[in-house]
Amino acid sequence: APSRTPAHRSNQSLVDLDRQHLIHPVTSFRGHEAHGARVLASGDGMWLTDIEGKKVLDAFAGLWCVNVGYGQESIVEVAMEQMRRLPYATGYFHFGSEPAILLADKLASLAPEGLDHVYFTLGGSDAVDSAIRYITHYFNAIGKPEKKQFIALEWGYHGSSSNGAGLTALANFHRGFDLPRPWQHHIASPYPYRHPEGHDDAAVIASTVAAIEAKVAELGADKVAAFCCEPIQGSGGVIVPPRGWLKAIRETCDRLGILMLVDEVITGFGRTGPMFACDDEGVSPDFLTLAKGLTAGYAPMGAVLMADHVYQSIADSAPAALPVGHGFTYSGHPVSAAVGLEVIRLYENGLLENGKKTGKRFDHHLDRIRAHPLVGDTRGRGLLGAIELVSNKETKAGFAPELDIAGRLSQLTWENDVIVRCFANAVIGFAPALCCSENEMDLIFERVERSLDQLLDMPDVRQALG
Ligand code: PLP
Repeated sequence: APSRTPAHRSNQSLVDLDRQHLIHPVTSFRGHEAHGARVLASGDGMWLTDIEGKKVLDAFAGLWCVNVGYGQESIVEVAMEQMRRLPYATGYFHFGSEPAILLADKLASLAPEGLDHVYFTLGGSDAVDSAIRYITHYFNAIGKPEKKQFIALEWGYHGSSSNGAGLTALANFHRGFDLPRPWQHHIASPYPYRHPEGHDDAAVIASTVAAIEAKVAELGADKVAAFCCEPIQGSGGVIVPPRGWLKAIRETCDRLGILMLVDEVITGFGRTGPMFACDDEGVSPDFLTLAKGLTAGYAPMGAVLMADHVYQSIADSAPAALPVGHGFTYSGHPVSAAVGLEVIRLYENGLLENGKKTGKRFDHHLDRIRAHPLVGDTRGRGLLGAIELVSNKETKAGFAPELDIAGRLSQLTWENDVIVRCFANAVIGFAPALCCSENEMDLIFERVERSLDQLLDMPDVRQALG
């Protein structure tokens, strides 16, 4: 049909076709029909251009994934070269490919000690799902089949697979999907700004430890398989636990005899400063899930890293001739793996360092913007951070849902040519690429601050302030 030929397609018909046929992730179907999509056309460094030619500064690295920025030619080169040479190789039936092998070796060398074994996925959701399957398999393998309960955190996000979405603790992912499952449990988030004892680091850490202990006591230590967390909770609103929190969780899991699954899908690959957030605290989990920054969004890929002791137990327990029945056609895809190797080379050749440098500028702006009348809290680590808006700084009260603060801010920031993530609870998330310059960071905040001022000028918002 002519309407499907690109040369004949107007921008409007593209938006209409999108409304008619494309189901968007985590989007209201009717809302999308009414709103339509902002269709993006190209990117360069920190900048995106849409099909109308509008140029915006991307302060969210796509979806906290394009950590190297757009338009990195060397990645395009390795992907093309790999596609030409060998676009696909299965990992089934004892086949393999050079990029997948080299990337597994690279990840094992970069990851916290003991995480020597890598299973590749297509993204973060199936990385979490794979980890859950391996953990289930592990406890069956070692003769403890009753250890099947999982504990995770409120405000946590662990993807959209049938099992992972139940570890996720965000209402949209449960509503209408019959989740969480009976073996999935949630405890309070280490949310310093909203912790009953205030910003007291020791109290926040102690309360998570106590909550895990209480939940394990309630379920029975012989029934609990694992505790699962993000080092910094991303999609829940960039909730940053105090330093020392992750280490305390590791010690608690060891003491209680449960496995620790750390989900670094967002925090991996320099997002918080070091290569992995676990590195900051010298923590080595039993399972580590990765995606996003692994290929910086240039090709789909995720990974599950498995501790050697888990791997050896599974290997020893299974009859040698029987396969461990978990696999995807595109596990270890050679083009994605080649992209991953090049992306990691870029991190190691300057981007991680630049991210740390710009991270200081980011901290400076987060500190400064706390004085704005709408801002209750700011928090961040490396190039991951957030601003939380409140209607009353004293009581920390939020806004009535009818004010749709997130929707308005998303529109205002777009009009001011900057992309940030506006969460429903009036939190603004930032995750700029590690190539972000100090000037670009200044520009991000100039545009966000202008948006906040415009929001404050809206009569009903001003009236809501306590
Ligand atoms: N885990 C975490 C911590 C995430 O932030 C995400 C995605 O945002 C996922 C898992 C799911 O990853 P994906 O969207 O690649 O399936």
